[in-house]
Amino acid sequence: MTAKEKVITCHHCGNKTLMKEVANHKNVENEELFQGGKYVHTYVITTIKEWHLYLCPVCINVTLECKSSFSEEIDYDGSPIIHKELLYPYKTIEENFIPEKVARAYEAALKIRLIDGHICAIAIRRTLEMMCKDKGEEGKNLYLMLKSLSEKGILPPILNDMASVLREFGNAAAHADEEEISLDLIPSLLEFTQIILDYVYNLPKRIDLIQDKLGKKREEKRHQQNNEVLDHIVD
Ligand SMILES: [Zn+2]
Repeated sequence: MTAKEKVITCHHCGNKTLMKEVANHKNVENEELFQGGKYVHTYVITTIKEWHLYLCPVCINVTLECKSSFSEEIDYDGSPIIHKELLYPYKTIEENFIPEKVARAYEAALKIRLIDGHICAIAIRRTLEMMCKDKGEEGKNLYLMLKSLSEKGILPPILNDMASVLREFGNAAAHADEEEISLDLIPSLLEFTQIILDYVYNLPKRIDLIQDKLGKKREEKRHQQNNEVLDHIVD
């Protein structure tokens, strides 16, 4: 297998197969910031984006992936955090801060969405169950677990309403025949799920990272000011 080939599950035909990369593009953007004080020095921040296009040899359809990183977003070990996204045939959520089990359950819903709407709705309900359990809920059913998350403030009212719609739809899908539930709602249901997962997992982590960064910046500035004072005394 060369670097230009990769085993990917094709979400058009469902086959997991070796796909050739048929196109790619990398974009690097550097921005110079000047930091003032007695010693002016430049500071460069870099944003990297890469797009990779793969062709499925079975159904002759393409898959587009995007990898991006930002020099100001680094992990605790100093390595850049790489955000991977599937852009086509559907857009995935940013998985970085979503627990593996929850992310896999949601991915299962996405994969099946064009093939079977009922199973997709059931998979969405399962995703919510995984999320509740991950948040420490051990209630008898999804209704009670969501209610508890809402009471604890983990789910604000509007997200709790969204989750209730997903739960009810999932229940209906589990017990209904093809004709009885409206499958054209599936895109909205997936969107709701994405919003809930983003709110519960991704946003708090991103806020943490930015606050860490701000804390570090303040620390650096204090350090610099102290040095300037010392320099002044020595002068
Ligand atoms: Zn395919």
